[in-house]
Amino acid sequence: MKRRKFVHTTLSAIPTLAFGTLLSSCGDDDEIPTLMTDKTIVIIGAGMAGLAAAKYFKDRNVDVIVLEAQDKVGGRLKTDRTLGVPFDEGASWIHGPNGNPITSLANNAGATTFETDDEEVEIFDIDGNAYPDNQFDPEEEQFEAILENFTGSVDQSFAEAFYTQYPQYQDNRLWTYFLSSYLEFDTGGDISELSSLDFYDDEAFGGDDLIITNGFDTIAEFLAQDIDVRLNTPVSEVDYADGKVRIVTDLEDIEADFVLVTVPLGVLKEDVITFTPPLSGGIEQAIDGLKMGAVNKFLCVWDAPFWDTDLHYIGFTSEQKGKFSYFINLRTFSDTNALMAFTFGDYSKQTEQMEDAEIISDIMTNLRAIYGTEVPEPTGFLRTKWSSNPYSFGSYSFATSGVRSSEFSKFEAPIDNKLFFAGEHTSRDYRGTVHGAYLTGIRAAEQIADLL
Ligand SMILES: Cc1cc2nc3c(=O)[nH]c(=O)nc-3n(C[C@H](O)[C@H](O)[C@H](O)COP(=O)(O)OP(=O)(O)OC[C@H]3O[C@@H](n4cnc5c(N)ncnc54)[C@H](O)[C@@H]3O)c2cc1C
Repeated sequence: MKRRKFVHTTLSAIPTLAFGTLLSSCGDDDEIPTLMTDKTIVIIGAGMAGLAAAKYFKDRNVDVIVLEAQDKVGGRLKTDRTLGVPFDEGASWIHGPNGNPITSLANNAGATTFETDDEEVEIFDIDGNAYPDNQFDPEEEQFEAILENFTGSVDQSFAEAFYTQYPQYQDNRLWTYFLSSYLEFDTGGDISELSSLDFYDDEAFGGDDLIITNGFDTIAEFLAQDIDVRLNTPVSEVDYADGKVRIVTDLEDIEADFVLVTVPLGVLKEDVITFTPPLSGGIEQAIDGLKMGAVNKFLCVWDAPFWDTDLHYIGFTSEQKGKFSYFINLRTFSDTNALMAFTFGDYSKQTEQMEDAEIISDIMTNLRAIYGTEVPEPTGFLRTKWSSNPYSFGSYSFATSGVRSSEFSKFEAPIDNKLFFAGEHTSRDYRGTVHGAYLTGIRAAEQIADLL
């Protein structure tokens, strides 16, 4: 996928973490010193951030309690295997595997990978004709060149700023495709909401993306081994007014010395958890201001392929932005004849109100435009609804008009040295990614470890 293609690639953004510590918490625990403490540490949420922190403490012989609302670990690492091929509802790729802590973690966890190639793609227009290279390539280069230097203003959304400066692209299907399948996919946000300043100001690791082929939940399960994870335990209240922190769940109240909050930004925005006193240090404003995106995925399975099975990706320049314009061909790395379709932005939110039959019909309209009217209906279908998912209320976080990406950094400082924050939305540099969530889990664990 194109994700992070234009983002500055560097390792310089992680000097705050000891790299040795970082790698050692990925599994090589031979030389990790034991920590001695009688303090109680509670982690809310068993997604990548929460599990990274829990594993950090487990490696140092410190017991922690992880409270997880769902009946499974992993959060937005969620794999459905009911149709034969692992369908990753949330994250699929290790973006930029070089130096990325998820790469070694994946190896240790027994996750298998396949290197996806952005060049193995064919893009089709609504009449079913593929864009010729001599048209597509220069336009894509032009798009990349414009985005490289593009800037709007703090109160303008990306769409407002972009179409003011480049009105000629307003009704151009290919450019709508670029803006949606690249930019909206990368950032999660509809361009009508996305910041026109802070859309690609984050960092990235290098190397071609790796897709996990046996399910991203393999990594979550690996991290969760031998950790006291209490499933089906939604937290409703965190009271840190007095000495110890009181955590209220449906099942029990727990007292802790340190609490690490890793629930997604969407959950914080919906006030699912009441904090007493209210969160300070600009965190409340960050929660209000930053937004959650709405990327959704749809798996379609057939008895036989009707597409070029050598392609890694198929693009379609839909009339409507974000509407089944991007497909990944799962046949390249599995025995199942499956395509995974994506929706982005506002259209993605709309799909969550649509019936399966309506969705399949829209997907088939695009595929039949490319491959012919005789293409059969899929024999199997799965879908996501991330915006209405009560455990995340969205796919991943983005900076919006009027709200700068510096807001992501507000979560870095603990409150009263009792309340700590981690999760993809707490990483300015690596927001919206699995490695971002992982690195913030380690960051918060190190902050707590310093206080033991
Ligand atoms: C469609 C989609 C595609 C993506 N693709 C990629 C990709 O290819 N590569 C990549 O790097 N990233 C990708 N991401 C982003 C990546 O999945 C996330 O950034 C990362 O998994 C977030 O981890 P986290 O720990 O911050 O949050 P989560 O994984 O959401 O974990 C938070 C946990 O908190 C729990 N929780 C919520 N409410 C409560 C409560 N009240 N009490 C207790 N527990 C609670 C949740 O159930 C969840 O388990 C994608 C995400 C989506 C949705």
